[in-house]
Amino acid sequence: MTQGAQAPGEPGENAWRKLGAEAGLCAACRHAKLNETRKGTAYLRCTRAAWDPRLPRYPRLPVSDCPGFDPVVTLPRSQGQGSPGGNTNSR
Ligand code: SF4
Repeated sequence: MTQGAQAPGEPGENAWRKLGAEAGLCAACRHAKLNETRKGTAYLRCTRAAWDPRLPRYPRLPVSDCPGFDPVVTLPRSQGQGSPGGNTNSR
């Protein structure tokens, strides 16, 4: 299961559990930025709020309806970086 728009080196799935509430739509939105403090708490910031005045910078969770929701798109692994030996399902 994939949650949120994370890049390598950013807080992992454990940080999502530390939010204290389900993230709702934000968990699958590319504008969600999850931050974890040194004290071990986590909070979610909406990066889209920087230029979209309809949105709060720190949305109240869970978000169930959002005009800025933009789902994270993940590319299939089999394209470009397949396993050695290639695809064997081509009958
Ligand atoms: S745009 Fe909406 S759904 Fe996406 S991170 Fe911001 S508040 Fe959450």
